[in-house]
Amino acid sequence: MDPICIIKTKCIGCGLCVKACPFAAISLQNDLAVVDVPKCTLCGACLEVCPHDAIEIRQAQGVAQDLNDYYDVWIFAEQKNGVVQPIAYELLGEGRKLADTLGMSLCAVLIGHDIQKQVTALTSRGADRVHLVDRAELAYFQDEPYANVLSELVRRHKPAILLYGATSIGRSLAPRVAVAVNAGLTADCTGLSIVPETGDLLQTRPTFGGNIMATIISPDNRPQMATVRHKVMKEAEVVEGHNGEIVLEKIASELLRSRTRRLRFEPEQETTMNIAEANIIVSGGRGLQKPENFKLIRDLAEVLGAGVGSSRAAVDAGWIPYSHQVGQTGKTVCPKIYIACGISGQIQHLAGMSSSDLIIAINKDPDAPIFKFANYGLVGDLFTIVPLLTKEFKNLLGK
Ligand SMILES: Cc1cc2nc3c(=O)[nH]c(=O)nc-3n(C[C@H](O)[C@H](O)[C@H](O)COP(=O)(O)OP(=O)(O)OC[C@H]3O[C@@H](n4cnc5c(N)ncnc54)[C@H](O)[C@@H]3O)c2cc1C
Repeated sequence: MDPICIIKTKCIGCGLCVKACPFAAISLQNDLAVVDVPKCTLCGACLEVCPHDAIEIRQAQGVAQDLNDYYDVWIFAEQKNGVVQPIAYELLGEGRKLADTLGMSLCAVLIGHDIQKQVTALTSRGADRVHLVDRAELAYFQDEPYANVLSELVRRHKPAILLYGATSIGRSLAPRVAVAVNAGLTADCTGLSIVPETGDLLQTRPTFGGNIMATIISPDNRPQMATVRHKVMKEAEVVEGHNGEIVLEKIASELLRSRTRRLRFEPEQETTMNIAEANIIVSGGRGLQKPENFKLIRDLAEVLGAGVGSSRAAVDAGWIPYSHQVGQTGKTVCPKIYIACGISGQIQHLAGMSSSDLIIAINKDPDAPIFKFANYGLVGDLFTIVPLLTKEFKNLLGK
């Protein structure tokens, strides 16, 4: 049974679905809509415009996949401005372990334009094969064409596992692909492992505000797909002499159509460093009392060459932009040193910084939860302690 069908008694041949289909998969024949099923991605655009409910999508319910058809571990290698992003190396590091356990190859998908030079960055860090899609229309990330291309590659090659970064690109792309290929998807994983007997991917992620860890499996569908939190997995090291194969993928032009158009790139108005990449972070919370007091945090950060972070309370109060927020609904960071000033240490904040190598907490409340996680705790008034630290570090570092 086809996964999509036209109900002939309802269709009046108005042609709205023909115009709406982004894949040119519907035509009119004898005043009735006809679907070219192999071209259809079940995106549902036709359903939305049909005024007579004459189209039915049956998804793939009840159609069992042969799981043995699916092989290899894939990672989506995110690139920005033609440069592979560090998250891809983290996925390669984790993907290597999964591929070795399964006895499969580790492959990367690289989509963009003029990016062939980036392939060695992936093969040198362990990718056995890179599926490269190089088209001018794909120079920058756009949801629709990227999702169409990746879904097409999944149908073509049938990977057993496909990992994405839980970045804004990965979080936008992965659900679209999951729907198109009828696969499960676990978001924001912090741990992955394999059940060797079944090849099932155990996808672990914090849930209920970080209070429990849930492990999720997709036993009936392939590929098993997960987005993985940035800075949680270790980056794959460069393996001396490791080479990989390049597969140049051909893509039909209709898959590259997009309903959105990129007008220009507006860089974030960020005067300080990106906290996701910072080695040291000085973070401020509600204990700062007002926005002007973030100057104390910025001064200390400047002396230490650190990034400025914040709790959600400070962001919600409008004291600092969202790009600085650390935590469950902000950024996950993993610096060598995290200095929390006037932050109580609620579970949602900890979810974003607890894997820091060294945590230093400054708080006037000796019972603040942050002290349970801190390596060093300073109980006292941050308005006294932070300027003293800035002064001392200035002297020590000769600044
Ligand atoms: C679904 C959900 C998602 C969330 N996501 C996030 C997230 O991503 N990130 C995040 O941070 N929060 C998040 N939160 C909010 C979180 O629960 C807390 O409300 C928030 O982290 C509290 O911020 P805070 O520690 O700055 O403020 P508070 O909890 O009010 O703590 C302020 C601390 O400052 C101390 N203090 C006050 N004055 C001084 C002083 N003079 N000197 C020293 N210490 C002082 C106090 O003792 C207190 O411990 C989320 C909540 C929900 C429900």
